[in-house]
Order: sequence, then C-alpha cells, then structure tokens
Amino acid sequence: MQKGKINVTTENIFPIIKKFLYSDHEIFLRELVSNAVDATQKLKTLASIGEFKAELGDQTIQVELNEKKKTLKIIDKGIGMTAEEVEKYITQIAFSSAEEFLEKYKEQNNAIIGHFGLGFYSAFMVSEKVELVTKSHQEGAKAVKWVCDGSPEYSIEEVEKDSFGTEVTLFIDDDSKEFLEKGRVSEILNKYCKFLPVEIAFGKETDWKDGKEVETDKLNIINDPKPLWTVKPADAKEEDYNNFYNKLYTGVEAPLFNIHLNVDYPFNLTGILYFPKIKNNIEIQKNKIQLYSNQVFVTDSVEGIVPEFLTLLHGVLDSPDIPLNVSRSYLQSDSNVKKISNHIMKKVADRLEEIFKEKRTDFESKWDDLKLFITYGMISEEKFYEKAEKFALLKNTDNKYFTFEEYKELIKANQTDKNKSIVHLYSTDKEAQHSFIEKAKSKGYDVILLDGQLDAHFVNQLEQKMTDCKFIRVDADIVDKLIEKDDAKASHLTEDQKSEMSTVFESANVAGDNYIVSFEALGEQESPVIITQNEFMRRMKDMSQLSGGADAFYGSLPNSYNLVINSDHQLVNKLIEQKDKKLSKKLEAVNEKISPLKEEDDNLKKSHEKLKDEEIPQADKDKLAELEKEISSQEENKKVLLKEFGTKSKLAKQMIDLSLLANNMLSGEALTNFVKRSEELIK
Ligand code: ADP
Repeated sequence: MQKGKINVTTENIFPIIKKFLYSDHEIFLRELVSNAVDATQKLKTLASIGEFKAELGDQTIQVELNEKKKTLKIIDKGIGMTAEEVEKYITQIAFSSAEEFLEKYKEQNNAIIGHFGLGFYSAFMVSEKVELVTKSHQEGAKAVKWVCDGSPEYSIEEVEKDSFGTEVTLFIDDDSKEFLEKGRVSEILNKYCKFLPVEIAFGKETDWKDGKEVETDKLNIINDPKPLWTVKPADAKEEDYNNFYNKLYTGVEAPLFNIHLNVDYPFNLTGILYFPKIKNNIEIQKNKIQLYSNQVFVTDSVEGIVPEFLTLLHGVLDSPDIPLNVSRSYLQSDSNVKKISNHIMKKVADRLEEIFKEKRTDFESKWDDLKLFITYGMISEEKFYEKAEKFALLKNTDNKYFTFEEYKELIKANQTDKNKSIVHLYSTDKEAQHSFIEKAKSKGYDVILLDGQLDAHFVNQLEQKMTDCKFIRVDADIVDKLIEKDDAKASHLTEDQKSEMSTVFESANVAGDNYIVSFEALGEQESPVIITQNEFMRRMKDMSQLSGGADAFYGSLPNSYNLVINSDHQLVNKLIEQKDKKLSKKLEAVNEKISPLKEEDDNLKKSHEKLKDEEIPQADKDKLAELEKEISSQEENKKVLLKEFGTKSKLAKQMIDLSLLANNMLSGEALTNFVKRSEELIK
C-alpha cells in the first residue's frame, strides 16, 4: 500500500466547506452520478469508434444504499481509471479544483449558487471516509483502491476487481444521516437525475405479495434517459408533449400550447416550453421552468436567465452554454445568456404568431388564459411588444376578439373625438359598470373589456404606443362627453339656478363631500343623476395600488366622483319647482338685500378701474371690504336655507341614491335608508 499527502495549502478545508455549503449538501449525489454518467458515455464513444473492443455489457449505473454499514455506493461500468489517472484526476485535479472553488466562494461570499464546480470532492460534504475502487477499460489494467478520510492524507493500493468501471463508496458521517434514508436518496435522485442519459438504478422494483411489499429481481430504474426535449421536434407527436408535461408536473391542468426549442448555433439550447393557463395572480404561477445542463438538473429558478415574464411558462431548458457557477447578477450581464434569452423570447413570440395566423379560432378560444402572460411580456419587454402587437387581442363586452388594427378600423368612424383621437372605451368590470356599458352601446359605441391583473398598466402602455388613440373608462363621464364632439347641448338652467341646486344636491348627498356637482342637458330619457369617475385620477389611484402603494401621493387621495345632474329630466325640474315653491319668497327677500349691496360694490369697483392700487383711497378700500363681507354673509343665509331644503328633500336623496345604486356604490346604512325611503314614497 502506498500512502501520500494531498497537495492542498489549506490544512483542512472540509469543515469550512461543510459549513458554507450546508444547504447544498445534497448535490454530492448529482456530482457523483454525473461523473459515472460521463465515464459510461466516454466508454460508449470509445466502443463506437472501435477503440474499445470488448463487450460493453449492461451499462446501468447503480446506486446502492446500505443502512447497516452506513454506506452509499455509486457503481458504474464506464472507462474506469488507472492508478496514474486516480493520482492525476482524483488526488490532484479534484482536490485542487475544490480549493479553487473555496477561494472563489470566499471572495464572492454568497454569490456562487453552488451548482457545479465541486465535483468529486463534494462527497466529503457528507462522508467521514470515501473509498474509490476502479479498473481502467484498457487491456491488462490493474484495479486500484483509493481511500481518503478528507484530511490531506490518502492511501492507494492495488486490488482485485472483476470488470472495468468505478465503484465509489461513501461512509456517511453522523451529521448526514438523512442520506442513509431510502426516501431521501430517492428524492434527490428524482430531483437531479430524472433525465440523465444513462440508465440509473436505485434498488429493486417492488411488488405486493400476500399483503406485503417485496423486492423483485428487476432493477428500479429512476430516470428517463431520452427525455422528449432531446428528440427531434419532427419526431415528436402532440400526445408526447402532453405526456411529458404530466411527467414534469403531476396534477397540473393541461397546458395551452408548447414550443420545442432546438438550437446548435451560435449557442446550444434545447428544451420544451409550455404555456399554462394563467387566470390571475402571477406570483403563484412563477418558477416552474427547470434548467438542465446536458440533462443534469441545475435549478428551477431561472430568473436572470430568461426575461421575467417568461418565468410564467412551464417546461425545461437545457443548455451547457449557460454558466452555472456564477451569481445571478453576473448571469444577467453575460452576453451568452442575453443571446439565449433573446432567442427564447423571439421563439415564444413567433410561436404565438404562428398559432394566431394558422388557427385563429383556437387562439381566440385560449386568449383569456394567455392574456395575462402576453400583457406581462408587452409591458416589460419592448422587443416582445413589437412582435406581440400583431397578434395581441382586444376583447369587447360582447366577447368578440380583435387585433389592435382591426379594432381601430371598427371604431374609427364613430369614436373619433374632435381632436382626431380614436377613443377606445373600456370597462374594468362588466357587472359593476353595466349601466355605462349599455349607455355607450345605445350610442353606437363599442366597449372593450380590460379587467386583467395588469390592465391598469397596460392601458398606459397602449396609450403611449398608439399615438392617435385615447383610452377612457366607460364610466369616466356621461356618455355624451366620453367622446367629445362639437355638438354638446347646453343646459337651460341659469347660473343662479345651477348654484342654488348645487347646494341642494350637495347637502342631500350623504355619501361624502368628494362629489363634484355639475349640470348637463342629457335629454328626457337619460337618468336624472349620473355618477362618473374622472379617468386620470382613477387611473393614478389604480396604478398606485398595483405598485404596492409606491406612489403614495395618488394612493392617499380619496376617490373623487362627479355628480352629473340632468337638467332635462322631469324629476330634476320637479325638484327645482319644489325648491321654488318652498323657498322663493325667502330667497327673494335675501336677494333684495344683496342687490343694492352688489350694485354699490360694482359702482365702486368701476370708479377704481383706471387707478393703481396705491391710488385708491383707504376709505374706499374699507367700504369694499365691508360690502363684500355683508354680501357673503347674506349668501350664507341663502345657503342655510338651501341646505335645509336639500337635507330634507326625499326627492333629491332618492335621485342620488338611484345613481349610486346603478354604480354598485350603495351599501350599509345608506342602502337601508334608501329602502325605507322608497317604501314611504310608494305608499
Ligand atoms: P469534473 O467531473 O468536473 O471533471 P470531478 O472532481 O468530479 O470533476 O472529477 C475529476 C475527474 O475524475 C473527472 O474529470 C474524471 O476524469 C475523473 N473521474 C471522476 N469520477 C469518475 C468515474 N466514476 N469514472 C471515471 N473517471 C472519473
């Protein structure tokens, strides 16, 4: 037996490695099984070019667990190693790369993800001793046994071994007992090795006999050596894609479409991406893509590797060209990663366009489930927007679908305003905004539905991109003003009447003071009172809510509504009559006091017209101030009268409540009061 000392500068780096990489301990198995796979494939290659002439035999890799002996073995029938090769590859290279890895790890602290780079050495993360027995495939080669307990000391000796290949035995240490549990080992193999290209067996298949689970003679193969993404797209059938999806995710609803990626140049990338149905709540849906490197599982978090919106997709990506042992921030700036990510984005867009063009009905039927994904892409990636604007759809409240261009054509004639903007009317809630949608439709307008999770952002984006277009929510104004044309009819009310009735309606409205009263002549058929919500303010508030209150200013403002009074309506005129009947004498009396005051005020001001401020006599200034004070106190008297009338007016209250009701805004005590009042009124 020969003894040696491993050439490492750090006396004992194991404790450090164990501590630093604690969460990643399980990867030792992936590393060792990958090595076994490499060795097996190398021998296959040699055999195929005639360099290895003996029988290859069954090349299944075996993982064996012995709970009693506390060992885990990985056995392959690959190329094996000679004593010199063990010295070179295991003692020197494996250990020195471990040291190098540790150096890097120290420098970047937590930056290294911990995938790859440790190789064979990672066995020591879970073992107190590692034994490697190997026999080279070369003719006449002698088998050797290499043993190391993780200290820089190791031993190497010649032993007997029947066939070529390598057998690595890990003596699992007490801190790592979990890796002696069958279930845990199974779980790790399933996570990292499920699609490795050489068959891997873990124990034997079991069967049920006389109510007991018994082992059969058949090896329990844990992997699929030829997963669908390695098959040429032309050789795969639709059902193969669905079956593969089920293999990846159990119990998940079938996907909408898939894309098979297959690139060799200028980088190597294969994979299958699936479009899942996404209704809402993006966060839940993220992070389902699995990243592989030559069929070895690396991670299921691909952020930084693909644009964020693509993380909503499901499936697998396999590329040896994505650097794996670097930080995410490095990944984002890596030019290879950028190329790959752009390629994926382009393929995704192309595939969607292809389905749109070839199977439009199918595309439309799936649109509602695809929409959130596409919207997300269009908002976050300029390049995706440019492609998607050709196939993205707008759905109207009658469930018809249009491309952006088609929709513009549809509404151009009737919905262009006096500033030549094509006004897109939209609803964010078909139920709540029902009365507004109906009114818009009765005017021959079309209304689209933008009720998705990201639509508040999307509307802004669309408005920026489509320069000649405007987006207005259907309840942003009364229907005649939604799309401003030149033919607006003026209200017949005088300014005095308007001002008086404003006070009446304001005081009749118990819903709050953030209602601005205005008067419009809307025709006798239109409702007496309509509540609308200013587009700009509402959008700002929606956005602020979406961004988690990032824009606190708009978020903190109360909702602001318009209370539009239809001066053409019979009931409004009835209310004016009631007010006149009840108050005209009293108001007249106050007005009689105000008129002479106003006259005097006017005359004084007129006499000052040509004077500069400092030339006006102080006595005049005092007089003016006194007059204005008197006028406003008289106006106040009028207001008191009107307010009293308003607070008591059932008619005014009823009209306002009806409009609140139409907007789904009447609830609680206000609703109870409304019901009571209605009962009284119809008695
Ligand atoms: P890497 O696999 O990244 O090269 P490792 O530390 O895992 O690094 O392994 C170092 C070298 O040891 C491998 O490149 C290979 O030449 C050799 N080796 C490891 N395991 C085996 C094995 N099971 N069979 C044959 N050679 C192996």
